[in-house]
Amino acid sequence: KPLSIGLTGGIGSGKSLVADFFRQLGIPVYTSDIEAKKLMQTDDLIRSSLIEAFGESVYLKSGDLNRVKLAEVIFSNNEALKKVNAIVHPQVRLHFQEWVLKQTEAPYVIQESAIIFDTGLYKNFDKIITVTADESIRIDRVVERDSCTKESVLERMSKQMSEQERIVKSDFVIYNNSELVIPQIIAIHNQLLEL
Ligand code: ATP
Repeated sequence: KPLSIGLTGGIGSGKSLVADFFRQLGIPVYTSDIEAKKLMQTDDLIRSSLIEAFGESVYLKSGDLNRVKLAEVIFSNNEALKKVNAIVHPQVRLHFQEWVLKQTEAPYVIQESAIIFDTGLYKNFDKIITVTADESIRIDRVVERDSCTKESVLERMSKQMSEQERIVKSDFVIYNNSELVIPQIIAIHNQLLEL
C-alpha cells in the first residue's frame, strides 16, 4: 500500500495547480471535491440518506442530483450543510481508501481536500502538505478565477481555518506566491520518495 499524503490549503491558495504538478510527476491524485460530486450521483447510501433528510426533490426524475434544490436547502438552513457533509464525507473517505488500494505502483498517493483539518481526516495521512500564499494574492486570484467580488472571497475565507493554524499542523508547506512553486514541489516529492 502506498503512503497517503494529504494536500490542503485555503481558498485560492493553489491546491489544484499544485495537485496538477504532482500528477505530472506521475503521482496519483484524488480530488475530494470532484469525487464527492460523483458519489452524490452514484452512491446508493448517499442518495437514500439525502432523500431521507431533504425529500425526494433533491434528485431529479432523471436520477441526477438536483443541485439547484440542494443549494437552496443549504442556503436557507445552517444545519443543512452540516447534514450534507455528515452524509457525504464518510462515503468519500471509504471510496478514497478503496482507491488507494488500487494504486499499487505508486510510491505515494495524494488526496486533495480543503477541509483535511476541519474533519478528522488528517489522522488518515502519513504526511500533510499545505499550500499557502499571501492573502492579497489569494483574493486577487479567486476574484479573477470566479469573476466574483473581493467581499465574497473574504466572506468565504472567514469561514475557513486560519493559514497559520493550517501551517503549524502540516509536515510540508508550499509557498505559492510566484512561479517558484515548482522547485518546492520537486523537493517535497524527493523527500517523500525517500520515506
Ligand atoms: P479553491 O480552494 O478555491 O478551489 P485552490 O486552492 O484549488 O482554490 P487554484 O484553483 O489552484 O486554488 O488557484 C486559484 C487560482 O489562482 C487559479 O485560477 C490558478 O490558476 C491561479 N494560480 C494558482 N497558483 C498560481 C501561481 N503560482 N501563479 C499564477 N496563478 C496562480
